Amino acid sequence: MQTIGHFIGGEKLAEDPRTQEIINPSTNQLEAKVCLASKATVEKAIATAEAAFPAWRAVPPIKRTRIMFRLKDLLEQNADRICELLTREHGKVLNDAMGELQRGIENVEYVCSLPEVLKGEHSRDVGPGIDSWSEFQPLGVCAGITPFNFPAMVPLWMWPMAVACGNTFVLKPSERDPSAALFIAQLGIEAGIPAGVLNVVNGDKEAVDTLLTDKRVQAVSFVGSTPVAEHIYTTGCASGKRIQAFGGAKNHAIVMPDADLDNAATSLMGAAYGSCGERCMAISVVVAVGDATADALVEKLEAQIATLKVGDGRDTSNDMGPLVTRAHLEKVTGYIARGVEEGAELVVDGRGLVVEGFEDGNYLGACLFDRVKEGMVIHSDEIFGPVLCVMRVDTMQEAMQIIDNHEYGNGTCIFTRDGEAARYFADNIKIGMVGINVPLPVPVAYHSFGGWKHSLFGDLHAYGPDSVRFYTKRKTVTQRWPASDIREGAQFAFPSNR
Ligand code: NAD
Repeated sequence: MQTIGHFIGGEKLAEDPRTQEIINPSTNQLEAKVCLASKATVEKAIATAEAAFPAWRAVPPIKRTRIMFRLKDLLEQNADRICELLTREHGKVLNDAMGELQRGIENVEYVCSLPEVLKGEHSRDVGPGIDSWSEFQPLGVCAGITPFNFPAMVPLWMWPMAVACGNTFVLKPSERDPSAALFIAQLGIEAGIPAGVLNVVNGDKEAVDTLLTDKRVQAVSFVGSTPVAEHIYTTGCASGKRIQAFGGAKNHAIVMPDADLDNAATSLMGAAYGSCGERCMAISVVVAVGDATADALVEKLEAQIATLKVGDGRDTSNDMGPLVTRAHLEKVTGYIARGVEEGAELVVDGRGLVVEGFEDGNYLGACLFDRVKEGMVIHSDEIFGPVLCVMRVDTMQEAMQIIDNHEYGNGTCIFTRDGEAARYFADNIKIGMVGINVPLPVPVAYHSFGGWKHSLFGDLHAYGPDSVRFYTKRKTVTQRWPASDIREGAQFAFPSNR
């Protein structure tokens, strides 16, 4: 039985007394055990990262960036191995794993432009003989805490940029599927990141709370559920850290009566059921404008659900794999029962699905609810499973009001052929990422990712330009040469260009 440990100062370590089982979601067989880091183990990782900071900070950005080019190559060369780890521990189908990894690689590609994005700002002659510039200096030890649903991509949102900016890093991946993140960090060291600059600790709340309260950690990036995100934000800020904490979501799509309904239905299938709905950008609610739109859409969705293939993630003909754990399967099926009790119409019931050869897996077929209303728990809560809710309204304004009323504000989209309606929607909806006929508007790597409301605690978004600002501190220098020019004597008025 393999025990997955930590990666500290370039060394593997597996000494903690507490462990957790890693279960294959397709079979419910035990795959490995993962160490749950004690406070002392996390402190060792922080001390290692702190010791590595002064030398790493002094390495010219172009040299740090070269390592990122090598990392990109290594990620591509090892893609099959990484995706196999993702499928084994998370359950997602291999094609989906490949998509996740590719998005992570694109973040590394953006980081490869670092000397450009770190150039800073310069102004000559801000006063007589005075020049001024702003530069962006690394913070020191940064930490990342990541969720189970993107075990490769979300860590790649974080540490490549943090490390390239001159910081050192401690990553705490999800204890449910830690292997891909651990393997990728080892590739980072193989690419040339000095040992100690990038460290991985596996663990649970004990590890996270140590990272959050240790004074040596300057900044924490978190991605996970909203209650934990809020805890990370309040505890981390109280401890004087810079925090960005990304939380849960409930993403709505509006389907207008003029939309291309075939296209909308096909787009919604992937957005709702891809990765079993275990995506923070999954569409989990469709708000259909007009009963005729809703009737036609539900009919089309039902027909497409009948063709959906659910099974083991390694079989590339499958569209959807198992849910991550048995406990999560039970939570999702509990929501389905609750929706029926609340009076929503369960048009397609995916419960009770048995996959031949994988009878013990955490399988659930696609589920479709119609006539869902505000106030129902299946609408207010993030279910994080293959459950799509259809709501019916008469106008676009009503649809937008439902979206604006919701606690979460991650992503949304509208299907329409009306440019004016689309523009109005994008301008006014209170959501961080908006799609127009694009169901999963996940920004590309050279923009930044983030929701509004309870989907993000903090200000700066993930990856892209915002992440350069998150992982650096602005310093503004104002200089006058030659200093001997100051002959007019002391000035007591506030210096200005009056
Ligand atoms: P989670 O909140 O259970 O866990 C996330 C991380 O927090 C893990 O590393 C875990 O070890 C740690 N953790 C869990 N409980 C903790 C506690 N009480 N104290 C301190 N640390 C704790 O989330 P998850 O189930 O792994 O991931 C799914 C959630 O993540 C969903 O809500 C999803 O919407 C969200 N998510 C959000 C985004 C985004 O960008 N907004 C992206 C991906 C996932």
